[in-house]
Amino acid sequence: MYYDKLAFEISKSGHTGYSLPKNVFKDYKISESLLREEKIVLPELTEFEAVRHYTNVSFKNFGVEKGFYPLGSCTMKYNPKINEDIAALPGLSNVHPYQPTKTVQGLLEIYYNTQKILSEISGLYEFTLNPYAGAHGELVGLMIMKKFHQDNGDFKRTKVIVPESAHGTNPASATVAGFESVEVKSNQDGTVNIESLKEVLGDDIAGIMLTNPNTIGIFEKDILEIAKLVHEAGGLLYYDGANLNPLLGQARPGDMGFDIMHINIHKTFSTPHGGGGPGSGPVGVNKRLVHLLPSPVVKKVNDKFIIEDQNDTAIGQVTHFYGNMAVIVKAYTYLLTVGKENLGNIGRYSVLNANYIKESLKDLYLLPVDEVCKHEFVFDGLIDKSNHVTTLDIAKRMLDYDVHPPTVYFPLVFKESLMIEPPETESKETLDSFIDVMRKIALEAKTNPELVKGAPYNTVVKRLDEAKAARNPLVKYTDLIE
Ligand SMILES: *Cc1c(COP(=O)(O)O)cnc(C)c1O
Repeated sequence: MYYDKLAFEISKSGHTGYSLPKNVFKDYKISESLLREEKIVLPELTEFEAVRHYTNVSFKNFGVEKGFYPLGSCTMKYNPKINEDIAALPGLSNVHPYQPTKTVQGLLEIYYNTQKILSEISGLYEFTLNPYAGAHGELVGLMIMKKFHQDNGDFKRTKVIVPESAHGTNPASATVAGFESVEVKSNQDGTVNIESLKEVLGDDIAGIMLTNPNTIGIFEKDILEIAKLVHEAGGLLYYDGANLNPLLGQARPGDMGFDIMHINIHKTFSTPHGGGGPGSGPVGVNKRLVHLLPSPVVKKVNDKFIIEDQNDTAIGQVTHFYGNMAVIVKAYTYLLTVGKENLGNIGRYSVLNANYIKESLKDLYLLPVDEVCKHEFVFDGLIDKSNHVTTLDIAKRMLDYDVHPPTVYFPLVFKESLMIEPPETESKETLDSFIDVMRKIALEAKTNPELVKGAPYNTVVKRLDEAKAARNPLVKYTDLIE
């Protein structure tokens, strides 16, 4: 159809979607210096044409509001629309960062309450809402870790322990914060190998970065012993909170011995994310590190809310103003909507959903760690690999069935990782239809492997040369039609 084309291509001279009132300011002259030198090139469309055009473009996209999106480690859950309504309230969306604090008491109360709720959920003493994302939170947390040791006159702690199954941002953040990351070996189920941990612990270790449940969805049951060993060696424990969903209302990183953590509130507390943003990665610390939190901080003094800079003992400022405010408001709305009494159901249902899918498919897909998982689990491709159908082929074929593929080839501990996370907001019907799709693809891989290897067929862009697409991406429409 013609509206499959670019707006410029369907443009027709004279088509407009506006009608401006007659200019009554006859003698008004705009200074020459402000005028454009060339005529602006804009598509000319009627309102209806523009609406159809953008609606059709949006159909080519895939998002959590179009279909199932079981992206492991990303917690792609439903984002309730009330979050948007609240964040768009004029009193919140029109504020300016330089407004006097007495005119934004309501917003500061939201900040203050969110900080308190995150503390209660996680067991950490105090939070800053400033960091813009999980990875940013990691950097802030590691800067706190570094300052803590340096303030103790301890400059030889230059290494941070990161398990081999960790998210790529962990070693990256450690490097950016000026640490060297050292790997600790994992057991077969991805949990930390205690003997290997003991070997690397020493007076050059600043701390360890862990996520619990780990990347494979397995709860680190030796966490108390790990915490004891790291603390005895003078290190701190950093908790990567991206996998907090299954713990909600069930267990708290603070109680496990973690000293610093971030929470990806865009994941766990339902704000739209993916495609690069916007996110928010509040950082929590235990009591002995509070003085190191970045500026500014929101505090309550005599029933008034104030914004304060930390003194010189802290790590300084890590954001322009006060973090991603709208994301924080949406997360707060979500927390209040769910309510304290229902928080535990998020943990319970996300764990139930993951185990339901895992058990329904493990006769066809290879499950290297056959244990009760938390909110996610990892298959290592198909059990029957005789036709050489890979995880990549399976992921591409899912697109034809309107499913967003899970995370693939991560974690690196298995060759054909397929990491599935079905959040608590998915119904049994959705899970069943996903299981059907996965079973159908496994059957196709057996009976018609070439079909799977050539997928996808129903998408705008068909199978790409992955290496070429990464090195020489054609992102302009004009590149594609040449
Ligand atoms: C998403 C994620 C991160 C990084 O968080 P961003 O908000 O994307 O920067 C870190 N660790 C894990 C385990 C994650 O899943």
